[in-house]
Amino acid sequence: MTSLQSILEYNREFVEEKKYEEFLTTKFPDKKMVVLTCMDTRLIDLLPRAMNLRNGDAKIIRNAGAIVTQPFGNIMRSILVALYELNAKEVYVVGHHECGMTGLNASNILEKAKASGVAENTVDTLRHSGIDLERWLTGFDNVTQGVMKSVEIIKNHPLLPAGTPVHGLIIHPETGKLDLLVDGYENLKTPTGV
Ligand code: ZN
Repeated sequence: MTSLQSILEYNREFVEEKKYEEFLTTKFPDKKMVVLTCMDTRLIDLLPRAMNLRNGDAKIIRNAGAIVTQPFGNIMRSILVALYELNAKEVYVVGHHECGMTGLNASNILEKAKASGVAENTVDTLRHSGIDLERWLTGFDNVTQGVMKSVEIIKNHPLLPAGTPVHGLIIHPETGKLDLLVDGYENLKTPTGV
């Protein structure tokens, strides 16, 4: 049985037996928060449980590394949609120790792409069309730096609603322990000159 088949088979049973009932909620986050975190498999259940989040409590956005690289990319758009359209009021960026985006190396990925059958000249063509693959296929030197950078981009975004706390944390992928890097409430107290 393929992975797809087994998912579909399980799903029929899940729906028939109404296993969904315990998850019923609305699209609005009860705890009025949006969390940006990493797609790491260890965090699927661990992160919500370690943060006391249940279905319906938060908007959770996941990508490789919990990274916002572009102020006008799709991660920042998702955060703004959560804040403006879905009643979220606070932003949490939660990176984690042992993240695969630490020291991510573009040339390693490009070598693997070639080994998997991507034609040699495809990479050249991309470079010639002005795509900076090294900049795109990059992570961070360490997770602290990664979280701080994402928090900075969100916090300084021109479309961020005034008074939105943007917190930065690091979670341990085994114990779920959270270390606080940026207390978004503290930043709100900083004089803005307004
Ligand atoms: Zn990660």
